[in-house]
Amino acid sequence: NRQFLLAKRPVGAATRETFSYVENPVGELGPNQILVENLYLSLDPAMRGWMNDAKSYIPPVGIGEVMRALGVGKVIASNNPAFAVGDHVNGALGVQDYFLGEPRGFYKVDPSRAPLPLYLSALGMTGMTAYFAFLDVGQPKAGDTVVISGAAGAVGSVVGQIAKIKGCRVVGIAGGAEKCKLLIDELGFDGVIDYKSEDLHAGLKRECPKGVDVYFDNVGGEILDAVLTRIAPKARIVICGAISQYNNKENVKGPANYLSLLVNRARMEGFVVMDYAAQFADAAKEMGGWMAEGKLKSKEDIVEGLETFPETLGKLFSGENFGKLVLKVR
Ligand code: NDP
Repeated sequence: NRQFLLAKRPVGAATRETFSYVENPVGELGPNQILVENLYLSLDPAMRGWMNDAKSYIPPVGIGEVMRALGVGKVIASNNPAFAVGDHVNGALGVQDYFLGEPRGFYKVDPSRAPLPLYLSALGMTGMTAYFAFLDVGQPKAGDTVVISGAAGAVGSVVGQIAKIKGCRVVGIAGGAEKCKLLIDELGFDGVIDYKSEDLHAGLKRECPKGVDVYFDNVGGEILDAVLTRIAPKARIVICGAISQYNNKENVKGPANYLSLLVNRARMEGFVVMDYAAQFADAAKEMGGWMAEGKLKSKEDIVEGLETFPETLGKLFSGENFGKLVLKVR
């Protein structure tokens, strides 16, 4: 069983040295446990946060423990009445070939209904994040101008498409001309701002002449600050993530322009996807319906080989992924 264990807490970006890459025997099945052959692992910006010894919405990964990762796999042995050999499951499988343990929070997925990687993207945690953070916290109305940072990423690309379904004008912020072009041509965005090659303030003025009604923030930092200067009265800012801050060596930089919230009677609200777990099945059904109607496309960026894990994870921070970054175990 090849495994990536957390070897030390990174300062700045995680690298290969952050982990020890080991091979261990799989072990014996205990009471209530299942053995899963891991097939696809979800690579998430949050993994960087789980490496920090800090209070958060979930405990950190301990030193010497298998790096936490969500994933989908196939049950190959079971002592648990809820899961049978041959079932496919979604759960916290860890960065390893095989998961052995109690299936806490695991649920079954059906590969005959959708390809397995989709259960990590639009039909998984990523899609649920986009759905609930945008609809419940963002409270969009038809005709609203919606701005999304990290727009070509896993969550952002789904938010943009849901916003179109809801009749909004959608503007994406992403790095690079190629990503920006794909947002317009493939995903139907109305406008784009390439933050790597153009001035953000000028781009926001051009794309959002009436101001920003909903800002869906995946990146934080300077982009959040720039959007704050363009919000419309009663704007809603969804704090979904702040990837530009996750590798900071100093404290997170908060928004300098937050008084724009006061002037515009606007609000900014944080979001944690697990709070909505009880409603995932209904949302996945609606998302599946949109996909069947051709209104929602799920994009996966699949890299093969468990052994590439540290470098593949790094792609999220250098912006090399388009859509959901998935690691195919073998
Ligand atoms: P993405 O697929 O969006 O990948 C990350 C993207 O972020 C990259 O492709 C890159 O795109 C962009 N990026 C990286 N560094 C920077 C930077 N310094 N400045 C601006 N953009 C940057 O990841 P996810 O869709 O999985 O996650 C998006 C966000 O949602 C993250 O912040 C994540 O933590 C958050 N999240 C929150 C959840 C919650 O419950 N609150 C649940 C799931 C995700 P580009 O090339 O455009 O720079």
